[in-house]
Amino acid sequence: MKAQALTAKSRQEALDALSASAEGGPVIDVLVIGGGVTGAGTALDSATRGLNTVVVDAQDWASGTSRWSTKLVHGGLRYLQMLDFKLVHEALTERGLLLTRIAPHLVKPMPFLIPLEHRIWQRAYYGAGVTLYDALANLMPGRRALPIHQHRSRKGLAKKFPDLKHDQAIGAVEYYDATVDDARLVATIVRTAVSYGAKAATRTQVVEILKDAAGRVSGAVLQDLETGNKITAKVNHVINCTGVWTDDVGTLAKTDGGLNVLASRAFTLSCPVSV
Ligand SMILES: Cc1cc2nc3c(=O)[nH]c(=O)nc-3n(C[C@H](O)[C@H](O)[C@H](O)COP(=O)(O)OP(=O)(O)OC[C@H]3O[C@@H](n4cnc5c(N)ncnc54)[C@H](O)[C@@H]3O)c2cc1C
Repeated sequence: MKAQALTAKSRQEALDALSASAEGGPVIDVLVIGGGVTGAGTALDSATRGLNTVVVDAQDWASGTSRWSTKLVHGGLRYLQMLDFKLVHEALTERGLLLTRIAPHLVKPMPFLIPLEHRIWQRAYYGAGVTLYDALANLMPGRRALPIHQHRSRKGLAKKFPDLKHDQAIGAVEYYDATVDDARLVATIVRTAVSYGAKAATRTQVVEILKDAAGRVSGAVLQDLETGNKITAKVNHVINCTGVWTDDVGTLAKTDGGLNVLASRAFTLSCPVSV
């Protein structure tokens, strides 16, 4: 693999590959629509399998939901309540890989604090939960990616977080997850996909999906939003990674993929802090 930059030239190469595919050039094996984290990961997976891959985004890499997340890389502590140990273990393993190997420059440890109001049962309940969380994380071979949890006394909590109101909390449990620079992670994954041979173009919107006589997807029409030019491409497979725009792209293909995406408004809960 030779590291590649995402430049105007590499964008043009992607557009050229798309138009060449309909003019007797190599057919695109996989066209990935959407350059959020799902599309970037899909393009990387596809390129590393040796498939002729192009990923496009109508705007910029991570311009959709992938740039506006809470930026957490977590194992899903709350899923332990549902006894989904397999899911939590898998997520914790991925968290560990991101922290230590895949993107240690973009994924950083982040401490969380669970304040306690009841001395015995809350310490036992939350303590058991985070002990299991740490244990599942540490099943991964190699060095530990994050510190293990700690119990804080009322005094310890006051020392560590002097600005909190300390009249109600009798202490806390402190545990670790991680935080990610989400947009840079997506751009890095796209760059890695390009380094493995994928082609990538921003400001390129899929405006039509073409089908053959048998009704099978055989190509797409894309619009270069910089010039307004339309490009017809011959493709073997289209993968729709457009998140909340999934239905719009499904409409282009005139399919009901059996999946309905309902837009939901992100919200932040505000509540009085009692510690
Ligand atoms: C408030 C909030 C907080 C979250 N917090 C976290 C968190 O802390 N940790 C976590 O892991 N996950 C979190 N998530 C979930 C995570 O952000 C999403 O699951 C993820 O970003 C979805 O990525 P995506 O690639 O599927 O979609 P998107 O990032 O939305 O990408 C879709 C892309 O498709 C492009 N597109 C659309 N139509 C076309 C077209 N016709 N042609 C070309 N391109 C097109 C768009 O421009 C867009 O860039 C959060 C989500 C929300 C809403």
